[in-house]
Amino acid sequence: MSSNSEDLSPEPVKSYRDAALYCIERLEANNFEAYVVGGTVRDIFLGREISDLDLATSALPEEVHLVFSAHKVLDTGIKHGTVTLILPAADSELLLEITTYRLESTYSDARHPDQVEFTNSIEEDLARRDLTINAMACHPNRGILDPYGGQQDLKAEILRAVGKPRERYQEDALRILRTLRFAAELGFSIEEHTEQALLASCERLALVAAERLNVEFLRLITAAHSPRIMDKYWSVIAVFLPELSILADSDVRKSYLPQLNQLPAQVADRLAYLSALALLYRSADAAATICKRLKCSKSLTKEVSCLSEYAVRAIPVNKLSVDEARQHLSRFERSLEDLLLLKTLLGQSLEDIEEFRKIDQELSAANLNGLRSLDIDGQDLIALGFEGEAIGAALDNLYKAVLCENLPNDKATLLERANTYLHRI
Ligand code: ATP
Ligand code: MG
Repeated sequence: MSSNSEDLSPEPVKSYRDAALYCIERLEANNFEAYVVGGTVRDIFLGREISDLDLATSALPEEVHLVFSAHKVLDTGIKHGTVTLILPAADSELLLEITTYRLESTYSDARHPDQVEFTNSIEEDLARRDLTINAMACHPNRGILDPYGGQQDLKAEILRAVGKPRERYQEDALRILRTLRFAAELGFSIEEHTEQALLASCERLALVAAERLNVEFLRLITAAHSPRIMDKYWSVIAVFLPELSILADSDVRKSYLPQLNQLPAQVADRLAYLSALALLYRSADAAATICKRLKCSKSLTKEVSCLSEYAVRAIPVNKLSVDEARQHLSRFERSLEDLLLLKTLLGQSLEDIEEFRKIDQELSAANLNGLRSLDIDGQDLIALGFEGEAIGAALDNLYKAVLCENLPNDKATLLERANTYLHRI
């Protein structure tokens, strides 16, 4: 590399803009080419805050490492030619994804790209991108490259596939779900030919790897326009989540989908709502199945199962059953109010919602949440002379007494009561 290849180890960068300028300047001083691309350019035009920075370059990953040898560079997506450059910022770090210009990768098995081929041409790199609004590049001196009319489509709020839509969706079916995800996030409509192609190819979504579906689907259901997109394209979603084919019934869609947006925009709440809906109609193990199909984490799966099962279950309004529900939900740092919202939106009434809330508040005020909230434990009982199974049984009885008989939760009272059990054994 020439002498101007020296990395000047800059002052901490102040913004993504500074970071992009620095990065492009460094690469180009080393006779490579670089642009800001993809979602970053789209978001700049939309006036959105930039939360990640995508750059494309003619440099190969190992050449990027050399150019930025003074910095941390991680091989985050090296198979696809992507490395992450970490630049020091004022009080933290800024991460830049730098991807070598690539040609279209084919996915013959709809799962893994067959092979990744690099190119020297930014135009070829833009041609492999999914939507016109995601296929623009931007350079501080050379301006905007927009070969497919992305800016016009952004203004008209249209999602249009780059190139021939059928071919593009056949090449990689995940693009179908990405298109729906962008429609749900941006509120844009899908151009007619793009929509026809998307519907014609949607069966291929069944072949896409769960991890890839996961990211896009979870973003779709938490997006602002998710009810409209789920309503219109339910059949596409049912290809990879057959549990949601209950949405084929337009009455079900009309009755339940608008409420999706009244839930917090959190993955667990939205998945729990959809799973509960499937449970209501199919009575199967919907949450676990849906989460498995999306390869959700174990903890998310447990949370979604717990919320959705309680959402459709009749909960008797008494201290014991309210306490049990509280204990289960608290494992996921969930309150009964989260459950009440789900139940209300699903039209699942409670016998007496005010009484239910009152019990919840009383239990909260008394700091009662399972055996561990008792003022004594197993060791105290052993010291009293309890053995084996009698320990657990006594703790259960004491807890019930505190819960239902208003027995004070203090050590002396509990030991005294435990003593009476001992004499009965
Ligand atoms: P977000 O703002 O949600 O990150 P994004 O458009 O940046 O959206 P990424 O998954 O970060 O989405 O992808 C970056 C860019 O890579 C996209 O803008 C698009 O140009 C391209 N891209 C991503 N996935 C695909 C795909 N499956 N097929 C074609 N191009 C893709
Ligand atoms: Mg991105």
